[in-house]
Amino acid sequence: MKFSQSFIPTLRDIPANAEIASHILLLRGGFIRQLGSGLYTWLPLGVRILQKVERIVREELNKKDAQEVLMPFVQPGELWKESHRWDVMGPDLLRMQDRHKNDYCLSPTHEEVITDLFRKNVKSYRELPCNLYQIATKFRDEIRPRFGVLRSREFIMKDGYSFHIDEKSLHATFIAMHEAYSSIFSRLALDFRSVEAHGGVIGDEENREFHVLADTGEDAIAYSEVSSYAANLEKAEAVATGEVAPPSQSLTKVSTPKVRTINGLVECLDVPIEKTVKTLIVQGKDSPIGLVLRGDHELHEIKAAGLPNVLNPLTFTKESEVRHRVGCNVGSIGPVHLQIPYYVDRSAAVLSDFVCGANEDDFHITGVNWNRDESLRNSAIQDFRKVVEGDQAPDGSGPLSILRGIEVGHIFKLGTKYSQTMNATVLDERGDSINVFMGCYGLGITRLAAAVIEQKHDDVGPLWPLEIAPAQVHLVALNVPRSSDVESAANQIYDQLTKQGIEVLYDDREERPGVKFADADLIGIPYRISLGERGLSQDSIEYQYQREAKVELPFDQVVPTVLRDLT
Ligand code: ATP
Ligand code: MG
Repeated sequence: MKFSQSFIPTLRDIPANAEIASHILLLRGGFIRQLGSGLYTWLPLGVRILQKVERIVREELNKKDAQEVLMPFVQPGELWKESHRWDVMGPDLLRMQDRHKNDYCLSPTHEEVITDLFRKNVKSYRELPCNLYQIATKFRDEIRPRFGVLRSREFIMKDGYSFHIDEKSLHATFIAMHEAYSSIFSRLALDFRSVEAHGGVIGDEENREFHVLADTGEDAIAYSEVSSYAANLEKAEAVATGEVAPPSQSLTKVSTPKVRTINGLVECLDVPIEKTVKTLIVQGKDSPIGLVLRGDHELHEIKAAGLPNVLNPLTFTKESEVRHRVGCNVGSIGPVHLQIPYYVDRSAAVLSDFVCGANEDDFHITGVNWNRDESLRNSAIQDFRKVVEGDQAPDGSGPLSILRGIEVGHIFKLGTKYSQTMNATVLDERGDSINVFMGCYGLGITRLAAAVIEQKHDDVGPLWPLEIAPAQVHLVALNVPRSSDVESAANQIYDQLTKQGIEVLYDDREERPGVKFADADLIGIPYRISLGERGLSQDSIEYQYQREAKVELPFDQVVPTVLRDLT
């Protein structure tokens, strides 16, 4: 690949509106260009990266006997109505009508299409298990496309789907896919974690997300340093620590003028925040419901929305209704004699001698104890707070740490969710018709390419892992075409390496050295050979791996050294 004949539009300056490394460096290195909101064109060097990521993905999936298919990007709305997701998906699903006024949508995912393919073509348990995947374009009308291709509207995903006669067979493939994903991310030398996660609109059975660890990640991951426990914060279970201490204070109503917040309360009464509780009021199916949390803890809205009788999506009760129901402002509510039903978070439930609102403006109660105080006994305890650094892991292994991650893959057990709604059945050994068990396995190809940069870059450019770099060697010929010695030496190196199957980007342009080196940094090819007139006259050629120290090689050692390093 000769630079002079390539389309590699690098950028000297940091582009406007690009905030994070992967977005900035993919633009600057001439890998992508933006077309519109959440829409990107991949340029030649970018395509090479994607193709290599895809090759690794294909190799690891094929090893597990998954087979590749290719399904349409435009899908009939009928299928989505059958699965009831036409309504559930909301505006992420981009809908349209054809000339006959039939409903269609752009593919955000393919559970419906694959289930339809399966039910029309597979009839017997003998044809199971069946594991199919594709690498294809997806469209999701994301509310906030951002970070370039990390969260775009159109993107490339590997999505796979498996079909099984029973849960045991599904589990075996789920494990096999977990292994395949782990191999894919290991081959890219990524620091990643597989975590427990929420199923979202795809399904709610067992599922794991794969995260590439990076400070810029949108997700937070709680993990144990000593065990394999790791969970997305959206899912991480919060456990209470310690035993309930016996009461030592009596219940006392105290005046707290104008106190409306936990911080105000802590200041007014000079109590530790861990000894206070706050009560939030949300809409329930029959009446508003109180959610009692320790003062320093944060409500986990997804967990709260899943509590019995709480409305999903979670909706906070209006201030006026709270006053009507409870008789005070939202900052003075507490569980003692609360007139509406409430739940107590696990960590609030182990407090003793704590402080809470008195359900009366400008008053709080101190010395409150769950087991002693009449109106508080038999409170319903649930888990609805966010995990924080240092919380105990639910497996009892010790404290949790929290890191940020970019979700690059998500594997699910779907069970019979789609096979039931869409009536996908096979005949089992006894000739009975049963709904097949399904799994689904997503991996964002374009997001993964960007996530690699988030983890592997320095101040000047990306540090691509060899397996997916746009080329293996960047050959920088200085002072060409003026110096015919350099030109002929560089041509020889290029020809010899290329003949050996090494991918070389050969900078043969008539450009200043500064321009060539800056471009080489922005492109980030792992091995660099630089030769100029002065060095060559002393039989010395610079050789460098990523941004490590340069070594000087005599001309006849260059090709053997590269071959040794690359094979
Ligand atoms: P997120 O929570 O980040 O929106 P998701 O849970 O919607 O992701 P899945 O439906 O599991 O994602 O899709 C499978 C994979 O597709 C994700 O793990 C991710 O790698 C990729 N992906 C999802 N949405 C996008 C997007 N908007 N842009 C790029 N890749 C995406
Ligand atoms: Mg999403």
